[in-house]
Amino acid sequence: MQLWTPTWTITPPRADPSSVSHFGGVPYGLPAERWPVCAQCGVVMTPLLCLEPGPWLPRVPEDHVALVFKCEDEGICDFWDGESGANACLLVSRAELAAQPLLLPADVVDGRTRLLPQVWVGTWEPSDDGLTAEQSEALDDPVRFWDLPEAIQFSHGFQTARLTKAGGAPYWTGNGPDDDPPRPRHLLFQIDSAIMVSDSRDALVEHVAGDGFSEIDDDGALSAANLALDGIAYLFDITPQAARPTLRLVVKR
Ligand SMILES: [Zn+2]
Repeated sequence: MQLWTPTWTITPPRADPSSVSHFGGVPYGLPAERWPVCAQCGVVMTPLLCLEPGPWLPRVPEDHVALVFKCEDEGICDFWDGESGANACLLVSRAELAAQPLLLPADVVDGRTRLLPQVWVGTWEPSDDGLTAEQSEALDDPVRFWDLPEAIQFSHGFQTARLTKAGGAPYWTGNGPDDDPPRPRHLLFQIDSAIMVSDSRDALVEHVAGDGFSEIDDDGALSAANLALDGIAYLFDITPQAARPTLRLVVKR
């Protein structure tokens, strides 16, 4: 099956930044009242992903953008659970987004909502995972998964650069799949807790300077969002047969 792997950069795009997928930062043109609030702690949630439509996300309508938020509160909000209300996914039409930068929600201005360092998708690199349709289905089945050869179960080799991708069957942690979110479901995108950035490590250190939370490892991989320490965030469509996708985020360790 075809999949798409993003390259990441902290260098702002030459194109209109509101048309380029990114991690962290703020969603361009989203009115303050549309930012979702955590159902558990009551604070405006942190933007995690802004995903633009394209061949890598064929379920996202061309005139829409997929926005993913999660609670970054350091308390006990269950951000990993797609039903908890401590994360949220929006499918927003371009018509709803203002052309101008807007005022940010009060929680963002006063620092209660943490913003993540912004990292742009430079390119989307297509490839093929070489799996049959049957193998792909088994990869997302909590029972059949464990009957697959290890070379298929963990073909990603737990390499950070491969654990972030759009399309194909989910690449799991060592715990394999479970039943959250409910089926039917189809993986749209997954992102590892560490992001391999193409810029120099020094430039990355400068980019995140002073945020007090982000970590950069010796290989220059950035860990910024709290994805249960070393977890992976999975964005699923849980209405794959419907005209419009229904987005659901879960975080797995
Ligand atoms: Zn919360």
